[in-house]
Amino acid sequence: MIKTILLKNRPVGKPSISDFEFINEETSLISGEGEILIETVYVSVDPYLRGRMNDTKSYIPSFELNQPIQSGIIARVIESKNENFEVGDFVSGMLSWKTKQLSTGEGLLKVDNTKAPLSAYLGILGMTGLTAYLGLNQIGKPVLGETLVVSGAAGAVGSVVGQLGKILGLNVIGIAGTDEKIDLLKTKFGFDAGINYNTSTNIKEDIAKVAPNGVDIYFDNVGGSISDAVLFNINNFARIIICGAISVYNNTELPKSISVQPFLVKKSALMQGFIVFNYAEKYPEAIKHLSGWLAEEKLTYAETIVDGFENIPSAFIDLFDGKNTGKMVVKI
Ligand code: NAP
Repeated sequence: MIKTILLKNRPVGKPSISDFEFINEETSLISGEGEILIETVYVSVDPYLRGRMNDTKSYIPSFELNQPIQSGIIARVIESKNENFEVGDFVSGMLSWKTKQLSTGEGLLKVDNTKAPLSAYLGILGMTGLTAYLGLNQIGKPVLGETLVVSGAAGAVGSVVGQLGKILGLNVIGIAGTDEKIDLLKTKFGFDAGINYNTSTNIKEDIAKVAPNGVDIYFDNVGGSISDAVLFNINNFARIIICGAISVYNNTELPKSISVQPFLVKKSALMQGFIVFNYAEKYPEAIKHLSGWLAEEKLTYAETIVDGFENIPSAFIDLFDGKNTGKMVVKI
């Protein structure tokens, strides 16, 4: 049997389980010449998938209604009529939310489960790690001794950004949503300070307390009022990396934000949108550094692993309630 998850409705506000449809097909797939049959092992759920559920133009096409949703997936080759793949190989790529599927192999990368756990190829050795490394270096341009603030700090991207900041000799402050996450930032990931945005009564002042010399780099994963509070603390020539804005992804009306221009002018600061796919030529360099630091134990990572194909939509929805620490992954 093959199980598939389709997008049933375009979510309005926060997605709900009823926006997804589960179908089971009593068919068996047979690979044609040049094809492989693959079985899903791990599924990545990511905040950016929310944008693909809207019917709006973006840097990546919208999902079609009543079609399978796609995300980063690790799969095992269970049948091969393609000379580049053998039965037992593990591959990663943008694949459908299906338990089994056919592929020509195009766009799939082989991953080595003897070098790192398979799930890591969806996280620190996948899009997450690339985003952290390339966003911080290409736009943040860190200089030893500077102060870096990271929002969404205990999440997949944020927890890597903070650690990279420490490797590069920065003073690193993380903003996250629970006291447990703030503890973890300091004990597991080596951040210098953390602010719980849910209990802080004044995030702007709390940042000023832990960054008395101001903020040189802001890695923005969340947008909204948290990012407004950071803007009040930026230094001259600060760099602001707009990686994501999860706090507004479910908004049904345009958010009321402060006007950023006066802050940027006054501080000669740079604010730049970042999309990891625009830096594909730098992936090998990034992976070389990330895997090297992992092997040297200068980098670590956290994962929230949810069990079961049926739980993919709920794991995705839980991202918007901060239920994950580190990378949210579903194990099939
Ligand atoms: P993640 O941080 O692992 O998961 C999402 C986290 O966002 C949650 O754990 C939650 O943590 C926080 N959050 C949820 N709602 C929030 C709200 N209203 N206000 C503040 N924080 C909220 O996800 P990720 O995969 O690492 O992605 C992080 C950001 O990077 C997202 O905005 C994503 O879209 C973006 N991204 C961009 C690129 C790119 O190329 N531009 C690539 C990958 C990811 P708390 O408990 O702390 O609230």
